[in-house]
Amino acid sequence: MIDLHSHSIFSDGTDTPEALADLADRAGLTALALTDHDTLEGLGRFLACQPRTAAQLVPGIELSCRFLGRVLHVLGLFIDPGNPRFRARIEDMRERRVERNRCMVERLQELGVAITWEEVAALAPTDAISRTHFARALVRHGAAGSPQDAFRRYIGDDGPAFVPLKDLTPRDAAAWIREAGGVSVVAHPGRFSHRSFRWEAAMADLKAQGLQGLEAHYPDYGPAEHQYFLELARVLGMVPSGGSDYHGGHKPGQYLGVGTGSLHVPDEVLDRLKGLRPAETV
Ligand code: AMP
Ligand code: MN
Ligand code: MN
Ligand code: MN
Repeated sequence: MIDLHSHSIFSDGTDTPEALADLADRAGLTALALTDHDTLEGLGRFLACQPRTAAQLVPGIELSCRFLGRVLHVLGLFIDPGNPRFRARIEDMRERRVERNRCMVERLQELGVAITWEEVAALAPTDAISRTHFARALVRHGAAGSPQDAFRRYIGDDGPAFVPLKDLTPRDAAAWIREAGGVSVVAHPGRFSHRSFRWEAAMADLKAQGLQGLEAHYPDYGPAEHQYFLELARVLGMVPSGGSDYHGGHKPGQYLGVGTGSLHVPDEVLDRLKGLRPAETV
């Protein structure tokens, strides 16, 4: 069993990279990927655990893209965290995130929520502040009853205080990932737009843009949705990847490897993805 989607304190998870590596072994995983949002910061510490960790540790990232006017996440797996060109691109995204976060604080203030930058920053362990931290800050401030309420009222993709990150296309994300020696995967397509969205044409478009896999195994999916994405991957010739999207304490009830309990991503997925790495890096 493998898990190709997880987050550390370097984005919006609550575990250190070392704790994640230890958890991978305790969960009996063959492989674990760390895929923090738009950052490579945790990967050095994560990969340094490799000799003592039995599970194979896979360097990854989750890139925030725009697709059909909405947020789409794209995972890069097996990327080289030292690739200078990729690092420069990610540094640019980090700067954009800081600007975006400042804008979101201003929007909230305009909406009558007297929240400050300091209140939000205080809840993030690193300078990679995400909407997960905003949600916590809004609850603490008394502007929302729960993190979910904060997303619904203010900062969800359709919320009045939401400011998107850079307008990265899936095509560019896939190209960046390939240049860095990695393989690109459409993250949790079932969470994109509303549940009745028909993915056939849109996923074929993403494949044409260079995306190589899609997350067919994901904790939020019901049995029908799981089958739907497995079949879609088969028909389009994309790899049916998967992972728990573990965020530690920020997503209670979700565990590494098994998600809410029934997730099981087979080992063969790892070999198929590895087989798609650009030739010069294999
Ligand atoms: P950001 O990259 O700062 O835009 O934050 C995106 C993160 O916020 C996602 O990776 C999720 O962890 C979280 N998120 C986004 N929308 C929701 C939602 N509706 N409910 C809960 N968490 C969400
Ligand atoms: Mn997240
Ligand atoms: Mn995501
Ligand atoms: Mn994620």
